[in-house]
Amino acid sequence: MSDPLSHRIEAKRAELIDLTQALIRVPTLNPPGQHYRDICELMQTRLSARGFECEMIRAVGSPGDSDRFPRWNLVARRTGTRPGDCVHFNSHHDVVEIGAGWTRDPFGGALEDDRIYGRGACDMKGGLAASVIAAEAFLEQHPDFAGAIEISATADEESGGYGGVAYLAQQGYFAPERVQHVIIPEPLDKDRICLGHRGGWWAEIETKGEIAHGSMPFLGDCAVRHMGAVLQAFEDRLFPAMASRHTDMPVVPEGARQSTMNINSIHGGQPENPPDFDGLPAHCVPDSCRITIDRRFLVEETADGVRDEVIALLDDLKASRANFDYDIRELNRVIPSMTDRDAPVVTTVAQAIRDMLGTDPTYVASPGSYDQKHIDRIGKLKNCIAYGPGVLELAHKPDEWVGVTDMIDSARVMGRSLEKLLTR
Ligand SMILES: [Zn+2]
Repeated sequence: MSDPLSHRIEAKRAELIDLTQALIRVPTLNPPGQHYRDICELMQTRLSARGFECEMIRAVGSPGDSDRFPRWNLVARRTGTRPGDCVHFNSHHDVVEIGAGWTRDPFGGALEDDRIYGRGACDMKGGLAASVIAAEAFLEQHPDFAGAIEISATADEESGGYGGVAYLAQQGYFAPERVQHVIIPEPLDKDRICLGHRGGWWAEIETKGEIAHGSMPFLGDCAVRHMGAVLQAFEDRLFPAMASRHTDMPVVPEGARQSTMNINSIHGGQPENPPDFDGLPAHCVPDSCRITIDRRFLVEETADGVRDEVIALLDDLKASRANFDYDIRELNRVIPSMTDRDAPVVTTVAQAIRDMLGTDPTYVASPGSYDQKHIDRIGKLKNCIAYGPGVLELAHKPDEWVGVTDMIDSARVMGRSLEKLLTR
């Protein structure tokens, strides 16, 4: 580490550990969305002391927002001494439930050797802390920088981002005239650049039947058998079609480099009995069966095409199968997003990885989505990547941790990226 910026960042190692621990110790569980204001205030206190103008923004009216669980976001901006681009680091501050299997305090932030443990350590409070340290070291090294640096801590990424980045994008915070480069420090590993993510389409399908006595099913019409025909059509036609579609997106893991679909749930007939009820079922032919599906699609596909493919299959059944009738209800859709490899933020971070880590970056895309979708679709900003410390496979797991050395290294890459973009 011969360069002055790396020295400054390395000198802040203890501060980086403190900040990461302080962030982990605020239990920002989502759902329901706890302590969002506390973590935003922690960030505000720190960044306003370093010359950032801070705005606390509540996503009023977004899903889950209430006086009890308000959706708070922080946007901090530090403007340079001359005109230039704005580089924005966006981290979500919410974390998912703890789950079973922990051997450490999930909100203790224990430091053991090179690891800091806790829910959100890698996803993504470690990334947030690394971006703060990178920006602060850069500001000390280059007080005369051009343009602006923004750091945001945003709500609800784990539940779709509607009370976080989507809301801010609607308010114009990611408009291309305000922000030119976005780095999202999600845990993708310090030498990988994540260009984007697949899309998603969620729907509920219901097949219809007719109730009758179970001893004379021919007098009714079994909705579960109709759903069986739907599932068979998926097996025969939809799954093979999805498996044949390949993508230019470098999705990892490799199994997600094609279209996929999960059937989340199936339910037909009477509701299941509560566990403390040991009576026998009544004898009825089910008149309704429902499934929910989670269809993930590629940048080469469209949400409408994905929907139409499922509807065509259902309509074929309607034409060929006696008494078949269905309803379909779209629950949500998310567009895929992929930034070009020659976009400025990509080439800049790639060169910073080579400079600082002495290795070529690996380009990846995410099987599931993250907040890039909102920056792309609502913010109309294409120059966005995910880059940050931590191992993606640890996200949402027990004993989640982030490596201190990985945070230092990714902070060096982020700081060097700022040098490349804001000191010309
Ligand atoms: Zn995350």
